[in-house]
Amino acid sequence: MQRRRFIRQLSSSIGAAALAGSAPAIIVRNTLAQTRRNSLGFAFVGLGNYATRLASNLADAEHCHIAGVVTGTPAKEKTWAEQYNIPDANIYNYENYDSIANNDDIDIVYVVLPNSMHMEYVIRAAEAGKHVICEKPMALNTDQCARMIAACENNNVKLSIGYRCQFHPVHQEIIRIGQNKEMGATKVIQADFGFRIGNPNQWRLKKELAGGGALYDVGVYCIQAARYATGEEPVSVSAQEIKTDPVKFNEVDETILWQMKFASGAIASCSTSYSSNFNRFYAAMEGGWTRIDSAYGYGGQTGTTSKGAIEAPENNMWAAQMDDFSLCVQEDRKSRVSGEEGLHDVRVLDAIYESIATEKPVDLI
Ligand code: NDP
Repeated sequence: MQRRRFIRQLSSSIGAAALAGSAPAIIVRNTLAQTRRNSLGFAFVGLGNYATRLASNLADAEHCHIAGVVTGTPAKEKTWAEQYNIPDANIYNYENYDSIANNDDIDIVYVVLPNSMHMEYVIRAAEAGKHVICEKPMALNTDQCARMIAACENNNVKLSIGYRCQFHPVHQEIIRIGQNKEMGATKVIQADFGFRIGNPNQWRLKKELAGGGALYDVGVYCIQAARYATGEEPVSVSAQEIKTDPVKFNEVDETILWQMKFASGAIASCSTSYSSNFNRFYAAMEGGWTRIDSAYGYGGQTGTTSKGAIEAPENNMWAAQMDDFSLCVQEDRKSRVSGEEGLHDVRVLDAIYESIATEKPVDLI
């Protein structure tokens, strides 16, 4: 608590000094101890593939560091403790997780569990007084999202969703061009993300843990991209489902195509699949176009516009994402990838399934 108070006091005094035009009077001593005090501690919950990637990229962050873990697999306690120098006191399991409330080393909990567990572990983090990042998709329905947002508000902690693409320079350029209407109004967006899923026994193919299939897992990137490239919310959705392997995909969706209409007249045509590889974004505007190849992957995003290549350096989008949230906490700002952002996407996911079930367009207004 003392450390958090120090960070709050420090950020408010910097803010006041900057507003008063007296920022040079603040001397920032760059000692390691001070850097550490200004760096927030993360605890990852669920040490699977993606948590492993997040933790290794956290090393590039300036404003945060790994401080703890929550795991149900005792063997991982030892490997993570050794790799990241985590003291025993900062290692938790799913049963004693709530006692993280008493741990001042941990400021932010990052929930990287199967989708159906997101709500419970976000609410428990909030009730323990910890700020939270939750992986996508935020939850299984909008009701769960609303409960997560309320729990964070009631406990005065911040909530963010792991939408890393919004921290990638190529996506940021697409957002800038689209939302500023630099090439005129957006007319048509094509956003597609699918991959061939392997192991038939994994949680992603079990409805109880995943909530849905390809749409929940990677289709959500396309909804996000269409929303942030236009800066608009869809007003109606039509969707169609295709299943070629009803045995493997007996619980969740395999391939879904959907179309979203926006109030401005823009249309997004999207697809997602667990049986085909595709990964791209395209926006046609009145006066040109933008495109990202390998749009939503872990690297290699290539941006082009009708005027030429987007010259954007490869950055570490994970470090940028976690740094941004740490600064949001320190500066008492809302995350640009807030819980409400997650809820907006889940609302569209729900509408897509409803449109498939009813074979009719679903209005979102
Ligand atoms: P993994 O299966 O690799 O890891 C999930 C971890 O959750 C497990 O290793 C385990 O950790 C824990 N867990 C607890 N209960 C269960 C259970 N019943 N079944 C399976 N695992 C359980 O999944 P991912 O890391 O790929 O995905 C986790 C989350 O991250 C998902 O919500 C996914 O959508 C999201 N994700 C986001 C990405 C992005 O780019 N933003 C990319 C990939 C995933 P332990 O052994 O420590 O208990």
